[in-house]
Amino acid sequence: ISVADKLGVNKFNVYEEKSHIVIDKQYPDAAEVDRVVRICPAALYTADANGVRFDYLGCLECGTCRVLSGGKVVTDWQYPVGSFGVSFRKS
Ligand code: SF4
Repeated sequence: ISVADKLGVNKFNVYEEKSHIVIDKQYPDAAEVDRVVRICPAALYTADANGVRFDYLGCLECGTCRVLSGGKVVTDWQYPVGSFGVSFRKS
């Protein structure tokens, strides 16, 4: 079973009104941006000449981007409110 298939069994209850992660979409250091893009296990970050994009809908809440970004690209990281966020399921 592929990683994408394994991640696909999880359930997400998305809080649509506010992302639990805030990023600096125009962070100027390409190496820092590339680090965040590469470390997310759910591949939620992408970057191109227009800046960084982030899709919080599939976040696994692992906190890796928060730790490795050091407040640079990821400027705020909170767990989702209430009963929102990921529910892990076993395939
Ligand atoms: Fe990706 Fe983990 Fe950061 Fe969520 S918390 S965006 S899964 S690195």
